[in-house]
Amino acid sequence: MGRLIVVSNRLPMTLRRTRDGWRAERSTGGLATAMMPVMRRNNGLWVGWPGETPPAVDARRQELLDRWARRERLIAVDLAPEVARGFYEGFANQTLWPLFHFFPSHVTFDPVSWDSYVAANTRFMQVLLTRIEKDDLIWIHDYHLMLLPQLLRESLPDIRIGFFLHIPFPASEVFRVLPRREELLRGLLGTDCLAFQTHSHLQNLRSSLLRVLGLSSRMDCVQYGGRTIRLEALPIGIAPEEFSGLLDSDPETDRRLKELRQRFAGRRLLLAVDRVDFTKGIPERLRAYRRLLERSPDLRGKVVLVQVAVPSRSGVPVYENLRHEVNELIGALNGDFGTPDWTPVVYIRRAISRAELVALYAASDVGWVAPLRDGMNLVSKEYVACQRDGNGVLVLSEFAGAAAEMGEALLVNPYDEERTAATIEKALDQPIEERRERMGALRRRVLRNNAFTWADRFLTLLREAAAGRVTGPVERPQTLPIERAIESFHQARERWIFLDYDGTLVPFAGHPRTAWPTDALIRQIEELSRSERQHVALLSGRSREELSSWFGGVKGLCLVAEHGAALRTADGDWESLRPSGPIDWKERVRPVLEHFGDRTPGSVIEEKEFSLVWHYRMSDPEFGEWLANELGSTLEEMLAETELHAVRGKKYVEVKLAWANKAEAALRLAEKWPPAEFRLAMGDDGSDEELFDHLGEDAWTVRIGVEPSRARYRLLSPEDALSFIQRLIHMQAVLPVT
Ligand code: UDP
Repeated sequence: MGRLIVVSNRLPMTLRRTRDGWRAERSTGGLATAMMPVMRRNNGLWVGWPGETPPAVDARRQELLDRWARRERLIAVDLAPEVARGFYEGFANQTLWPLFHFFPSHVTFDPVSWDSYVAANTRFMQVLLTRIEKDDLIWIHDYHLMLLPQLLRESLPDIRIGFFLHIPFPASEVFRVLPRREELLRGLLGTDCLAFQTHSHLQNLRSSLLRVLGLSSRMDCVQYGGRTIRLEALPIGIAPEEFSGLLDSDPETDRRLKELRQRFAGRRLLLAVDRVDFTKGIPERLRAYRRLLERSPDLRGKVVLVQVAVPSRSGVPVYENLRHEVNELIGALNGDFGTPDWTPVVYIRRAISRAELVALYAASDVGWVAPLRDGMNLVSKEYVACQRDGNGVLVLSEFAGAAAEMGEALLVNPYDEERTAATIEKALDQPIEERRERMGALRRRVLRNNAFTWADRFLTLLREAAAGRVTGPVERPQTLPIERAIESFHQARERWIFLDYDGTLVPFAGHPRTAWPTDALIRQIEELSRSERQHVALLSGRSREELSSWFGGVKGLCLVAEHGAALRTADGDWESLRPSGPIDWKERVRPVLEHFGDRTPGSVIEEKEFSLVWHYRMSDPEFGEWLANELGSTLEEMLAETELHAVRGKKYVEVKLAWANKAEAALRLAEKWPPAEFRLAMGDDGSDEELFDHLGEDAWTVRIGVEPSRARYRLLSPEDALSFIQRLIHMQAVLPVT
């Protein structure tokens, strides 16, 4: 089965320096609770940062870490203090955290922090490489380590890697703001299985893949680097017993619960528990509470808001300002409304014990969870787990990931303070039957979809995704085995070479007119066409005029224009594949393309002799894809039973005569060539697929790019294609050993 290696920024134990030396503290967070048993069951390891790293080696500390590795199976990744600072406090928490929570205005970007982020991810990779064994499953957690999957993949192409993002993935409009966005997406694409808290986060990733990398995906997977990456929404759960279990068996919890009930007897308790973070909506909640007390004076003296505010990221200016704002708002509330025997807000500005927390959860009438944005929000689930009598009401922000699963809560928009206040009033008035019904449904779901089922589901998905890759049908197309191809080229007496132009020899440009061949490329094609034993054709969707103006002077080169409608043999003039097509078809088709063009800024219609093409590579990518689908189905109906058909290529839709295709044109050319042992075809889109089919299984058919294809092999980019061609050119002068 292989071991499980869990990788997260922090280990579930932290080393702290005290006056008496180093002290180990165990984390009680949900991730640690859920993952430790899963890790042990899978004979696993946990790799992460152990906390503060001293500048010089400290023998006592090292001894502790060695013991952790042996006994606890926790492997420490030490980071130099300045790297740790730039990586964690810098890029992770001041760039990624605000941006991924939809707060671009709080983002600071510093190239030095980015370098630290790269260095830290690389350091994690180095430590992992010393530990990973062949069948291991690697499960990487969260936004600190987004580059790690691809870094590992480069060193160990067959390793099984999963990644779970605990925080939201932002809308692509927000994600695009991020400097280094391409690197982060490519980093994630090193996985076999990529999971998010909600479907909406997953959709946001898909939209960013399309907008930033131009990569189309399906709801459940994306193709990249010759692999299929599974995409999934898998909301994390809690370990419910860790909370509700204390209500049965922990005397300390029991004592605190009794105390709370006594102290707040006759009053309704509203509970808020947050880290002090701008994503949590604490000021908004306090202002809504003020609205509540203003609009319903009869509630004064009868409700109390307990605000637990756990300090977080102190020293960062945004957080310092927030702390001041919260202090002021609470001071004003208590000062304006308080009486000698009633304090409207009980403010606890520190972390509290688990017993205190569980007692508060159980004693409260309303759990008020109001983040402006949250990946999941575990507090809402912990509150529900502790409502065993079903009396409490959960008021939950619609911007918490948890809202996607907790429809029975009263959902609020935390920015709308007026209506939030009204919802709290409604919660306080909710009849007991309704409360029990709603809380019962919430509780059953929280208990069932717990942290353990979550981890098991993720691991099952990861195993399935990787099994499809490792043991499924031989992956197609495989990476071109360049040395073997060159050897086969070398041994052959005659060779046929078919090359596509756009996307194969030159990268895809914003506008077709700007993708000109460089002089170096023309020289390269000249050299390739020089040998008498080689028969070279350039097959393109471009017009014959364009191809002639660029490559007309290259001796020995055959040209095929308009995806096969017209061709020029090595020594002859242009001829068309068939004498003529129907005459009036363009007048019927053009208005349809124009109708779509008018709705799509940035798209252009190109007229060729035998085809009409709607290009949308400069348009908004999502809108463009959507309209291209619509255009495709309109044309399909319109062209049924005609000589025309519509072809969907890379960022274009072309209407052309059905017989004008690259396979037919190649066949016509090859009739005049001697049979060849080495046959190569390289292309990057739908128009090349027929040629790949036609050349068959003993030819070297090579798709450029990451999309699925019927070619046998693939190369990732035009750069790779050109360097392969250069290797062939070097080899063509070397005579085969016979
Ligand atoms: N929590 C804690 N100490 C406290 C108050 C809360 O450890 O004094 C825990 C709480 O039980 C919950 C976590 O902090 O598990 C907060 O998780 P959540 O997903 O709500 O927000 P995050 O802080 O991860 O953004």
